[in-house]
Amino acid sequence: GRTAVPFRFDNSYARLPDRFFARLAPTPVADPSLIRVNHALAQELGLDPAMLESPEGVSMLAGNSLPEGAEPLSQVYAGHQFGGWSPRLGDGRAILLGEVMDSAGRRRDIQLKGAGPTPFSRMGDGRAWLGPVLREYVVSEAMAALGIPTTRALAAVSTGEPVRRERALPGAVLTRVAASHIRVGTFQYFAARQDHAALETLVAHCIARHYPQAEGPLGLLDAVVQAQADLVARWLGVGFIHGVMNTDNCSIAGETIDYGPCAFMDAYHPGQVFSSIDQTGRYAYARQPEIAAWNLAQLATSLLSLIDPDQDRAIERASEVVNRFPARFAAAWLDVFRAKLGLSGAEEGDADLIQALMDRMAQGRADFTLTFAGLRDGSARAQFTDPEAFDRWSEAWGARRSRGMAPDEVWRRANPPVIPRNHRIEAVIAAALDEDFGPFHALVAATGDPWSADAVYALPPLQDEVVRQTFCGT
Ligand code: AMP
Ligand code: MG
Ligand code: MG
Repeated sequence: GRTAVPFRFDNSYARLPDRFFARLAPTPVADPSLIRVNHALAQELGLDPAMLESPEGVSMLAGNSLPEGAEPLSQVYAGHQFGGWSPRLGDGRAILLGEVMDSAGRRRDIQLKGAGPTPFSRMGDGRAWLGPVLREYVVSEAMAALGIPTTRALAAVSTGEPVRRERALPGAVLTRVAASHIRVGTFQYFAARQDHAALETLVAHCIARHYPQAEGPLGLLDAVVQAQADLVARWLGVGFIHGVMNTDNCSIAGETIDYGPCAFMDAYHPGQVFSSIDQTGRYAYARQPEIAAWNLAQLATSLLSLIDPDQDRAIERASEVVNRFPARFAAAWLDVFRAKLGLSGAEEGDADLIQALMDRMAQGRADFTLTFAGLRDGSARAQFTDPEAFDRWSEAWGARRSRGMAPDEVWRRANPPVIPRNHRIEAVIAAALDEDFGPFHALVAATGDPWSADAVYALPPLQDEVVRQTFCGT
């Protein structure tokens, strides 16, 4: 049936040629029930939160009814997963309902994740279980609160149906909001088929939607290079490890997308990996910039036929743009970490100063978040197994600060004390499996307000609470 949840849809993706997607409706579930609606985001989208929380709203959020004006579809895309090529992936369990213009005039996708099988489900069941839905809700909303570009969580509902993983687990559906769900892998899909017309259409769509100032495929590439350089620098600034930086999880709009086995580090180490399937450390913390550059090279390759009819010229021009990534990333990274150290101005030795601190942090596995937050109040020193090494660094840092100091409020904002720590997320999921959503709501509230949250949420895990691995376990 159709529900009168008043989205004001304007579905530009659904107007693209048929080969960009498969049209289909969500598969209804047995017994939808509300977990949480994001009131602030609902209002941003011009929706009444109470309407979404009503039985009609919950039925819609579970995929049991469609809002007026929806044109549901699953998008097709390809991708490199851990470097291995898949010519056809696509939304295996996500269904785009449509697009709305938000209160700031930005176009936003409304997508149900876990909405049932699609033509792209391959071996999957099209569903999601409660754990990853709660994780994505908490972490994506925390990222938004930290000011980092990200997809958002509008709502989570449970389905009343079991999902079969290693065992039967409760099913859930997340309503995801994004600038778009277009990925590097979307371009790769059409490039692999030498579908020149589709690529031209996709470039024009992405420029109009995300980068109206950009001109042509090289302009688009340049804009995505900049967006990804900024994004990954911001990730590193909060100790975030995406965990599955496949080209199909690399957003053209420059948002963080696909919160699978992601995690925020507790103890700092550049080689830190959490994902159980990342055996080689491909997506380790400090490798994220080079992986982003690799993904952008795949985007560039997909665009070659549009750049110049002479292939050598096309390669040359595309390479020139992709090769802007390292310098742009380095600049963005310096901005982020200078602010974290409370520095203003720029000096030649700043990168070395930052690196020297991080080397010392790695040696003693200092807590990433508490070390940076603790620079301001002097509590950082206690994070080091060799406090005298920290003291020696601190002298050089003090000298540098005497030559250029950020305003205290700017410094404070650069170091959020509260991040969604893994042990908290695990506890949230465990409680939810016992039908207690209190810890979930409390964690959403705390990580959604990182500078004012109860100090208990800043605490690192006790030794027996440390989470060493996360699972795609979708
Ligand atoms: P991810 O690793 O989350 O980026 O997912 C990779 C691919 O697997 C995408 O095409 C997903 O749509 C698909 N996928 C993941 N989980 C499921 C599932 N439970 N059912 C169907 N497809 C899935
Ligand atoms: Mg994905
Ligand atoms: Mg995923």
